[in-house]
Amino acid sequence: VHGSGPAAAAAETAVEKDARHVLHPWADLSALGEQKPLVVRGAEGVRVTDTEGRTYLDAIGGMWCVTVGYGRRELIDAMRAQALKMPYYTPFGDVSSEPAAELGARLAELSPGDLNRVHFTTCGSTAVESAVRIAHFHFAARGRPEKKHVLSRVDAYHGSTYLAASLSGKAADRTTFHYEDGWVHHLESPAHDPDTSSVPAADHLAALIDRMEAEIAAIGPENIACFIAEPIMASGGVLIPPPGYHEAALDVCRRNDILYISDEVVCGFGRLGHFFSSEAAFGVVPDIIVTAKGLTSGYQPLGAVLVSERIAEAMAAAADRSKPVFSNGFTYSGHPVACAAALANIEVMVADDVCGHVRDVGPYFVRRLRELRDHPLVAAVRGDHLMACLECRVPGEEDGPTARNQALAQRVDRHCEEAGLLVRPFENLCILSPPLVVTKGDIDRIATITADALDAAEHDLRAQGVG
Ligand code: PLP
Repeated sequence: VHGSGPAAAAAETAVEKDARHVLHPWADLSALGEQKPLVVRGAEGVRVTDTEGRTYLDAIGGMWCVTVGYGRRELIDAMRAQALKMPYYTPFGDVSSEPAAELGARLAELSPGDLNRVHFTTCGSTAVESAVRIAHFHFAARGRPEKKHVLSRVDAYHGSTYLAASLSGKAADRTTFHYEDGWVHHLESPAHDPDTSSVPAADHLAALIDRMEAEIAAIGPENIACFIAEPIMASGGVLIPPPGYHEAALDVCRRNDILYISDEVVCGFGRLGHFFSSEAAFGVVPDIIVTAKGLTSGYQPLGAVLVSERIAEAMAAAADRSKPVFSNGFTYSGHPVACAAALANIEVMVADDVCGHVRDVGPYFVRRLRELRDHPLVAAVRGDHLMACLECRVPGEEDGPTARNQALAQRVDRHCEEAGLLVRPFENLCILSPPLVVTKGDIDRIATITADALDAAEHDLRAQGVG
């Protein structure tokens, strides 16, 4: 029985307090109050340390977001200096702060094409929501308010606010919440795995685009505002489309006056070896790019929507003069301390050529993990530069997130954790997205511990008479 009052509370450990009082994002409610959370207390480089003094190699990069590693003085000093100078002022209307202005200009330099107008938000979900609202505002300003429907994809993850969750298309994410399904549509997942697909990539691509066009015709292009896509679906399980998919989808969008929104919350800021991957890795200049996470290397919460000048100017020119206000934004949009962190982060990334480093070690990371493809518990290994995913499967079990495969992934994750490696278990997947500053030595350690964890899990299954 727990005591109460200040003395009892003081005696509780952080682990106990957390278990009793915190409702975590994506918590498993069947274990509410009983879980023993990993409470992380310290972090340096690519490693984190928990409250019991155990240190782990963080192959999750926080949550895809810690890119330049933990403890970078440049970022911390910039945040401190900004907090001392001016910790906060409103970003609303025609008021701004120096870091937000500087960061807007810097992002415009780094972004492809004419994506030079930046709308700051507070995180990825609010950036996704704002991007869709920009698409809506844009068409309404042009006298076409009926262009409101949004195309997303099965297996997408776009965030956890009401609309962002509705845009997300992973079956397992859809629980007993409500979802907008009147004007949000999910095209099929474009995932193409050349290791397992029986259809050649070019044929798969042609079929995907045919069906996209058919869906647009069914809804009516005059009713559709935008298409939103992650370059590579991250939380869906590092799902890579067939080559040419984004270019073909952009072409369909252009022909139907549908805005193309690229969700680079994970794929941007170096994870694929470029500040922005849409053009550099996939050959498309979207109308809108959404970024967050690696923008500040996770040191501060911040999101940004990069909008084509063409779109922004059309919005301004066509806005109803009786209602000219772009009424979207948050108290903490473009928070000055967060923008200062992002500016320092960009400086570090340029000075250390972090993108070049990712282009160097990324293929090695994928190669080392793909060595695990023949392991009896591995159904698939997918990856691109520093994002990768292992799909677990109990021998004899069907592919996918069955209860036994999910339990197996949890088991692999536990063995990794015991050996000092954090991977992210999700359904039957182990997702890996280490900080971008990992060395080849760190990568070898990730590959070795993961291989050992798979062996240990296989040993456990044998002990239970499976496999
Ligand atoms: N978009 C993508 C592709 C993401 O992976 C995420 C988060 O994982 C989001 C949007 C939402 O970002 P946030 O969690 O910062 O709201």
